[in-house]
Amino acid sequence: MKKHLFINGEWVEGTTYNDLLSPYNGEKIAEVPVATRDEVDHAIMAAHGAVPMMTALPLHKRAHILERVCQLLEERKEEAAMIIATEAAKPIATAREEVIRTYQTYKFAAEEAKRIHGEIIPMGAVPNGDGRIAYTLREPIGVIGAITPFNFPMNLVAHKVGPAIAAGNTVVLKPARQTPLSALFIAKLFEEAGLPKGALNVVTGNGNTIGTRIVKDPRVQMVTFTGSPAVGKSIHHLAGLKKVTLELGSNSGVIIDRDVDISNIITRCVTGAFSYQGQVCISLQRIYVHKEVYDAFVERFVEETKKLKIGNPLDADVHLSALISTKDVERSLEWIEEAKSHGAKVVAGGYAEGNMLYPTVLVDVPSQAKVSCQEAFAPIVLINRVSSIEDAIQCVNDSQFGLQAGIYTNNIRTAMNAANELKVGGVMINDIPTYRVDHMPYGGVKESGTGREGVKYAIEEMTEMKLIVINNN
Ligand code: NAD
Repeated sequence: MKKHLFINGEWVEGTTYNDLLSPYNGEKIAEVPVATRDEVDHAIMAAHGAVPMMTALPLHKRAHILERVCQLLEERKEEAAMIIATEAAKPIATAREEVIRTYQTYKFAAEEAKRIHGEIIPMGAVPNGDGRIAYTLREPIGVIGAITPFNFPMNLVAHKVGPAIAAGNTVVLKPARQTPLSALFIAKLFEEAGLPKGALNVVTGNGNTIGTRIVKDPRVQMVTFTGSPAVGKSIHHLAGLKKVTLELGSNSGVIIDRDVDISNIITRCVTGAFSYQGQVCISLQRIYVHKEVYDAFVERFVEETKKLKIGNPLDADVHLSALISTKDVERSLEWIEEAKSHGAKVVAGGYAEGNMLYPTVLVDVPSQAKVSCQEAFAPIVLINRVSSIEDAIQCVNDSQFGLQAGIYTNNIRTAMNAANELKVGGVMINDIPTYRVDHMPYGGVKESGTGREGVKYAIEEMTEMKLIVINNN
């Protein structure tokens, strides 16, 4: 029950503790340390001290450690899924999917570790390059501060720790206050896999104190953050000249063209809107449907939504469970009321039982309503009618965010036009914006962040390019 900090390869008892409560039933799950200033300092010192050792660790040894983590995770996958389901109130079937993806992320990291290389520069391209040979190296950055959110507590840790270790860096990880157990579990696997002491350190506790200390410390050379836009902006401000990647929120949209067979896509859209209670950064929040198929789409969507089962995250047939906090339930209900006051209509859900918000479908939602223009991060989706695909593209782009977007159409010109016009980091043609596998480049534009994840791309972010020029004249 009583958890420890992971500092310099040791499990260190905390000075102060917080109770970790289940978002579903409020039961105590564990006691988790709230790292003090000194403990954070020790963790950074350990990571800093381990830099030479990790830099010198050959690529095949880094790959081997990551492979070993995969093996250990495979052996303990059900335990891993239970940890996620319990601390995050993530339905167990979805938690199992997260474990599979975590495995894949570390596997990609193990493979990519062997492919880190620079390139030869064609110096002869200009006369004053004659007689010179030049090439680049990709060197580790040093200590990476990794700050992760609650919603994918295992796989989003993997997206930071996997590439960081593959690239030869060391890490101080601060997992979300609500879901620290997944990160501690993974640290144990790294310990068993033989990661050098100090290469991974986990400090648990509150973001605004511990996170800020990590971001400000001069020994931390890069910050990789996934979380809310508000915190992302404050980190960007504090980080100064440090390298920063920010994977932030969105209010992702999908467009449905008039030529689409609705019956083929309804289940997929419902999944995109309500998977893990909509607490997914690329959750489908806005659906723009061509007027010719709009009524049929709404009818079928509501029908499917009403079939979803809400309840205990540990029940195998449950689709949705509790939101991460009561505050989020209250905020969601306020936002639904606010949308109604702007003329929106609720056609499914719109109410809560305890911390469980029923999957909510709104229609005729004006763009100034919060459920449209802000990130809902709850099981709330709006379906609006559009007269043309051009209008739909404008609606999707009318957002401070730009993570991913989707379009369903059978017209190749319409699809390619949308691919060009949508102002996002990724366009999914004939799929929901919620689609992600872990080796594809992933990240946003506008307030959805800066930099890319997806293992290979994260390694690029987590290495510095160094140029070597040999004068052979
Ligand atoms: P959050 O911003 O509240 O917290 C994220 C992390 O930052 C936590 O570890 C938290 O303790 C820490 N933190 C809080 N205040 C801090 C501060 N002042 N300085 C440094 N660290 C601080 O986010 P959350 O509620 O855990 O997660 C939900 C958000 O994450 C949503 O906005 C979602 O869209 C986003 N998200 C984005 C992606 C992506 O890849 N783009 C993926 C998942 C989640």
